[in-house]
Amino acid sequence: MFVTVETAARTAPATVIVAIDGPSGTGKSSTSKAVAAKLGLSYLDTGAQYRAITWWMLNNGVDVQDSVAVSTAAAKPSIVSGTDPAAPTITVDGADAAGPIRTQQVTAAVSAVSAVPEVRALLTELQRTIAATAARGIVVEGRDIGTTVLPDADLKIFLTASPEARASRRSGELKGKDSADLASTREALVKRDAADSGRKTSPLAKAGDAVEVDTTELTLDQVIECVVTLIEEKRTA
Ligand code: C5P
Repeated sequence: MFVTVETAARTAPATVIVAIDGPSGTGKSSTSKAVAAKLGLSYLDTGAQYRAITWWMLNNGVDVQDSVAVSTAAAKPSIVSGTDPAAPTITVDGADAAGPIRTQQVTAAVSAVSAVPEVRALLTELQRTIAATAARGIVVEGRDIGTTVLPDADLKIFLTASPEARASRRSGELKGKDSADLASTREALVKRDAADSGRKTSPLAKAGDAVEVDTTELTLDQVIECVVTLIEEKRTA
């Protein structure tokens, strides 16, 4: 059967690329995973990749405050992300890193490592390759996805929330794993966001064409619903 290009394009399910950025504790991960699962899309947590490279640096005796040492070592670890939103994975040189990348030690060091341009260049390339090969489309979450990694994304969302709401969500997540109280969680969060927003190379920033969603007063289900509606509107536009 002869199928014209025009027919094939009309009948093929359109892929959709969604960029979700914002500071810590705004519900980016929970929202991105749920939206991807609901719409049958892949999911990529770019923060997990920055954490993975940081974990490798700490394990291999690299001084994370020494940007030259970090840039020299940046290409050494092999980081692989599994993009199933129901069970996302991250490995470093073949070892499961999902648990160790969430420790306080990694959280405290990640902003210094992620500010190094060579680290960003390597991970940006990896992220673009993953997005380009996602068969049905992908939801990619991070800090610079809409501005730098995928500037042509079909939809860009920037999630925000008050520092208090973000700290209380983060403390809830850490319960049982860490004894950080609300005040110190808030302080650490604000400090990390300031470092991420203030770095020279692709800082945390809202893209000019991103839709800002303030999640302070919203439940997770409401945020998911809002993002799904925005994607469906784009798809039918
Ligand atoms: O999202 P998460 O809090 O796990 O991200 C950890 C850190 O990774 C951030 O604080 C930031 O320093 C870095 N990051 C980044 N660019 C991204 C995603 C995360 O610099 N796209």
